[in-house]
Formats: sequence, C-alpha cells, structure tokens
Amino acid sequence: MPAKVWIVGEGNNELGAGDGYGGRDRGVTIYISRRLLERLADDDAAAFIVAHELAHHRLGHVPALPRTWFAWGRLLVSALDRWWIATREHEHDADQLAIELCVDAGYDPERCIAALEHLVNVSLDYQNVDGVLGYEDGIERGSHPALVARIAAVRARLAALRG
Ligand SMILES: [Zn+2]
Repeated sequence: MPAKVWIVGEGNNELGAGDGYGGRDRGVTIYISRRLLERLADDDAAAFIVAHELAHHRLGHVPALPRTWFAWGRLLVSALDRWWIATREHEHDADQLAIELCVDAGYDPERCIAALEHLVNVSLDYQNVDGVLGYEDGIERGSHPALVARIAAVRARLAALRG
C-alpha cells in the first residue's frame, strides 16, 4: 500500500509533521504542515522529513487504528504523536532509518540533515534553547531528543553508512 502525504494547510505550526492511518484501505498517512514544507530549503530536506515519518510507520511506532477512530482527525493524531509515537527512543530510531532511506533514494545526505538544522533555527526563533541543546542539568525531557543530539546521531549513522 503506497504512503500518502498530506500537506496540512491550517495553522502556522512550523515544526509540524505527524503520522496516522487512513484506515485499512487507505494505508499509511503522513502529515506535514504547509509552513514547514515551504520553509525547507529543497527536496532533499523535505525528503528527510517524509522519510522520518515513514520510518515511524516502518518501525511499528504508529498504532493501527480502526477507521472510525480516524474520524476524530488530527486532534487524535497529534495527541498520539506527542504521547505515544514520539518517544525519545522512537525519534532516534526514526532518524537513523530516515537518513538510510534518503541515501538509498539518492538524496544528498548533507541537504537532508539541513532539515534538522532548519528545525534548530525555528526552535531558536521560539527561544526553545533547551529543545536545541538539551537541558543544562543533562536530564532528558520531552518527547524528542535535543536537536543537536539528533543531528550528531544522524551524522554518525551517515559516517557508518559510508563505511
Ligand atoms: Zn518523529
């Protein structure tokens, strides 16, 4: 079943991407906010965001929901993404598979990593320094690892892929 990518227009969520199922007959669904997509530098950066969400599906992070549940729509999907799909371990694993998928598909890995660097800039625009660097006390909090740690881990995976 091919994946569907939905560009979600409303709101101004610049960090927004998420996953859901469109029901058994619709297959995998990925959401990306229009604002995020518009501000990414190129296709390679967008490919990394899509690959990251696809990786959540492939790694079994996205629970299969009956179609009726899906009628609850994006509210449910974004709640799921925050509380269930997006654990720090899942985010790390999705990033690792995403860079592999991007390299396999022929995208420029440096430009793919630029997607995460873009998220750094957006986070800093919102003064979310902890989200970029991690907390000063070294204790990890929240659903996602700090962006600098994510970038370092993706670079390490890339180096391993290149051998
Ligand atoms: Zn994720």
